Amino acid sequence: MNAVRRWVSLVLGHPALSIAVLLALWFVPASADRATVQLLSFVMINILLAQSINLLTGIAGQISLGHAGFFAIGAYGSAVLTKSAGLPVILAVPCAVALAALAGWLLAIPAGRVKEFYLAMMTAGFGLLTYEVIKEWADVTGGVMGLSAVPSPTLKNLVVLGWRLDALEYFRVLLVATAVVLWLLRNFVQSMHGRAFFAIQASEIAAGSIGIQPGVIKRRAYAISTAIAGLAGAFYAHLVGYLGPDSFTIQRSVEVLVMAIVGGIGTIVGPVLGAMLFSWLPEKLQAFAAWQFMVYGLILMGVFLLFRKGFAGAIAEPARFVPARALREVLAAGGAGTVVGATTGAAAIAGTASAGSMPGAGAPAADPDTAPIVEVRELTKRFAGLVALDGVSLSLRPGRITALIGPNGSGKSTLVNVVSGIYTPSAGQVTLRGRDIGGRSNPEVAAAGLVRTFQDPRLVPSFTVRENVMLGAHLKHRGSMLSAALRTPAMMREERETIARAGEIMAIAGLTAVADQLLESLPYGYRRLAEVARALMADPEVLMLDEPAAGLSEGELGRLAEVIRWVRGRHKAVLLIEHHMDFVADLVDDVVVLDSGRVIYRGDMQGMRRDTAVIEAYLGVQTPRNADA
Ligand code: ADP
Ligand code: MG
Repeated sequence: MNAVRRWVSLVLGHPALSIAVLLALWFVPASADRATVQLLSFVMINILLAQSINLLTGIAGQISLGHAGFFAIGAYGSAVLTKSAGLPVILAVPCAVALAALAGWLLAIPAGRVKEFYLAMMTAGFGLLTYEVIKEWADVTGGVMGLSAVPSPTLKNLVVLGWRLDALEYFRVLLVATAVVLWLLRNFVQSMHGRAFFAIQASEIAAGSIGIQPGVIKRRAYAISTAIAGLAGAFYAHLVGYLGPDSFTIQRSVEVLVMAIVGGIGTIVGPVLGAMLFSWLPEKLQAFAAWQFMVYGLILMGVFLLFRKGFAGAIAEPARFVPARALREVLAAGGAGTVVGATTGAAAIAGTASAGSMPGAGAPAADPDTAPIVEVRELTKRFAGLVALDGVSLSLRPGRITALIGPNGSGKSTLVNVVSGIYTPSAGQVTLRGRDIGGRSNPEVAAAGLVRTFQDPRLVPSFTVRENVMLGAHLKHRGSMLSAALRTPAMMREERETIARAGEIMAIAGLTAVADQLLESLPYGYRRLAEVARALMADPEVLMLDEPAAGLSEGELGRLAEVIRWVRGRHKAVLLIEHHMDFVADLVDDVVVLDSGRVIYRGDMQGMRRDTAVIEAYLGVQTPRNADA
């Protein structure tokens, strides 16, 4: 079964198939009747609509029940601009698309703040609002009477650049436009931008921790998605020549969503299949007369029972988020997964890395006199009556590993959460290289050079390890969304660099063998290491690891220690939250002990073991060796 799906994926993804389909659709309808050409034109419009919802809901994870609204803005926009304002079609269509994109971008501002049911309701509200505006704003839209005589092939008044288009020619315009949109989308999804879109669907917090700003991504997702819906609308207006409010009801929004989901959301092929099916199905179902909608409903329910990931999910492998060609090239050159051309530190570490061995103590620490990168002063965090952090001060220096130790509930995670901008501090100050970062958002702190991992690893489960690790390079990327969609040479170079760098870091973290496995299929230890590797991709000045050793095997602990030493060797500051005393003892340079939100010890490991306050508060009467509570 998997072999079949792989094979189908290869065929579907092959450029030759796309070109063959394109040529067939270009030439075959010449001998078809008018109705077929019309139906094929509707298929193109539905493909655009389904892709529009796919980008927003399938990729970026933002459900929309209001896409008929954007479809309407595109349709009425272009119709009114050509009919009433006398704009040529070639200008009216882009203007209508821009209008729909603007509406989407604006809707993203409130919609970006809510999720799930609330988001569904808000977008449905937008759809209803648009519908009402169409009905009531009769001067412009024709109200319930509709808007007729829109330039279209049917009325033989659609003229583009002096060329009067007939139905077949107009279909060919739609065909080429749809093919171009699909190509751009494919490129876009297989780029850093596509990965970032998908990351906010999986976890906004995880995305934020590597500098991806969910708000920004959502506005982009809405704008691009609604631009495509607007394009579909404009094409629709000039296909049918008449617009009435009934084409833009909430049923239409639901239909678009269903089309994409049944086809297989999150892929490019899926919505195409869904659009084809749903353009064709209603006609076939007319045979059932009054039972038409019941049969329709039954088909839907059946599909979701049988194929939870839609048709595309049933027949092909999941879509990937790396440009396939760039990956092949880098792998062929031996650049991903081996430590070719890595920094000397990386090569040395990779050379000595041996799973299972706990590295000995006494690795030379960097110059301890170097000024701190991070300074935390009198940091306090209160949660409704509970003081989780109570005037905590500490500093992190480059080339040094600081352990943050303390019993459960002593405030360790809270410290990392406040410093990294997940929580706002109640009082106190945090500076990074002298810059005040207290109260900044998590993505802003990441951009300033401080990246953290989570006590419960947060990754994109349906990404491969490689894709997850590559996600960490988000802040390093310079390529624009347009260059990603057009797959410019500069963009591809950047992707190859990211693939190669991810390969080096995965080699150091011992992830090379599982690089192309889905994260959700891997044991816990790999996930932890993948999260650390992702953080390293951002090349942060400061790395904060919240209990990274929890749940790791001996071999994986060794790997983790190597990775952390490698980071220190690169003159970065590391904060390591840990319970596992053996692990910490050999690794760290400085120790800070928290108890009930206060620092009770600051110094080195030996001193901590003799410190009476620590022994009382944390270690109790146990020997430190057994104190990994
Ligand atoms: P540690 O990581 O050292 O085990 P935490 O920082 O997770 O401890 O928690 C410190 C204290 O703050 C605990 O009492 C915990 O219940 C509380 N706490 C942590 N996060 C929150 C939150 N979001 N809301 C309320 N209380 C919290
Ligand atoms: Mg914790």
